[in-house]
Amino acid sequence: MELSLTPEIAELRDRYRQFIDDDIMPLERDPSVYDEHENLDIGHLEGVRRKAKAAELWAPQMPRKRGGLGLSIAEIAPCYEEMNRSIFGPAVFNCAAPDDGNMLALNKIASQAQQERWLQPIIDGRVRSAFVMTEPAPGAGSDPHLMRTNAVKHGDVWIVHGEKWFITGADVAQHFILIARTSEDKRKGLTAFLFDRDQSGWEIVRRIPTMGPEEHGGHCELRFEGLEIPDQNRLLEVGDGLKVTQIRLGTARLTHCMRWLGLAKRAVEIACGYVGQRDSFEIKLSQHEGVQWMLGEVAMAIEIGRLLTMKAAYRLDQGDFARKEVSMAKIQVADTLHKAVDTSIQLCGALGYSKDTVLEWIYRYARQAKLVDGASEVHKMVLSRFLLEEGDAFWHWS
Ligand SMILES: Cc1cc2nc3c(=O)[nH]c(=O)nc-3n(C[C@H](O)[C@H](O)[C@H](O)COP(=O)(O)OP(=O)(O)OC[C@H]3O[C@@H](n4cnc5c(N)ncnc54)[C@H](O)[C@@H]3O)c2cc1C
Repeated sequence: MELSLTPEIAELRDRYRQFIDDDIMPLERDPSVYDEHENLDIGHLEGVRRKAKAAELWAPQMPRKRGGLGLSIAEIAPCYEEMNRSIFGPAVFNCAAPDDGNMLALNKIASQAQQERWLQPIIDGRVRSAFVMTEPAPGAGSDPHLMRTNAVKHGDVWIVHGEKWFITGADVAQHFILIARTSEDKRKGLTAFLFDRDQSGWEIVRRIPTMGPEEHGGHCELRFEGLEIPDQNRLLEVGDGLKVTQIRLGTARLTHCMRWLGLAKRAVEIACGYVGQRDSFEIKLSQHEGVQWMLGEVAMAIEIGRLLTMKAAYRLDQGDFARKEVSMAKIQVADTLHKAVDTSIQLCGALGYSKDTVLEWIYRYARQAKLVDGASEVHKMVLSRFLLEEGDAFWHWS
């Protein structure tokens, strides 16, 4: 069992850190570069993205032949953690949700022709993308079997009707992965498709206002009224929609964890800076045992999250779905992000509650972590199903 980084990955991680320090932190501190949804304004994003490409830090999760760095899932983990030391980091390196998860999925399952048409422009940063699955009640939420959006085949074309919501990035996306019902079969009833923003037969009803700062393109409600998708734009086979979802969400959940760990560490970094400077009752805050226990607990929670994330990454790299491992990491890291930022706000006192640091930004953003890509309760349900089915084998190592 090897738990250290190779010298190449350690060096790459350091280069991400340096880039964040030199090129992104100054932007983060500049109120004029924020858009109305509290993210880096797209105009500023383009400039710093060009720099990231020139520095050979672009799309580390994508193959070299397509313009990425060709890293494995375990190798991107320390890099993603480092890049999300800044709230702007992942988008700058083309590693932000939802493009990140969409690219990873298309790279794995799309045909060569589909990769040229749909994946390459996302990797190049020429277009953005979205993953379209969740529906308002009574449609599919936690339970995908409730899906009502349907695609009916007429000759070589599928015609789509239905409603979706909370589709991240839809307001700026050009390429969409859509999950729709194609039969009533319980296991094989869903199918995945690709469509382009410029096609007719669908619309964005609204950008849903949320409590947090938002990814570029927000979280949108979509209506489909006769969108026509040629059969060649179907992903995998008819009836493979759940499989596509599992492949798409499995890795995407884990890359969320990698980024959230970076945000959690950043929160603690801010708190450590404050308690190391601030006097209270004749000593520094950091010298109070109560403060030390708070920091120690958070540090341990982050490290548990990193270990779970690395174990899941390793299993994904082995070709396993790693459902148990990904679910555990997702529950743990979502909770840890909350704990880290809540503790850090507490330790920074009134400053923590202010907008003088990014703590309040992270605090509001963090709330989605327990919901996106499956609520924590659903992941716990998955874990208990495995436990009840596997018994003692649940704890196997290999
Ligand atoms: C910020 C944000 C971004 C998102 N981006 C996307 C996106 O890009 N694409 C997309 O398709 N979807 C997206 N979603 C939707 C997300 O995947 C769903 O919110 C999630 O799957 C839960 O579905 P739901 O909201 O319908 O909750 P529901 O299914 O209505 O569940 C509500 C609550 O009930 C509880 N619950 C549900 N099932 C169980 C159970 N079996 N056992 C115990 N408790 C349970 C949980 O606490 C859950 O939070 C996004 C959501 C958010 C908040």
